[in-house]
Amino acid sequence: MYCGTDFLSPKESAKLSPSWEHIINDASIITRENIALCCRGCNASKGQKSVSAWLCSKYCQERGITEATVAPIIQQAISMGQ
Ligand SMILES: [Zn+2]
Repeated sequence: MYCGTDFLSPKESAKLSPSWEHIINDASIITRENIALCCRGCNASKGQKSVSAWLCSKYCQERGITEATVAPIIQQAISMGQ
């Protein structure tokens, strides 16, 4: 979803195994559109940040993750102010 990693099973790599993440950190929004599959590294890095704030973080810069490289659903969230 974010970094485009190939997911590994938790046994192979805890960091690169998939995890579910709420794009918008609002537990009341439990739609399919607000839940993204991303690796644990991204999920842990993003934490409670908004998507646009997270894209400015060192984690994203080091990995070349930008608004242009994330999945369309994420770009949509950014355009809605997240
Ligand atoms: Zn990732």
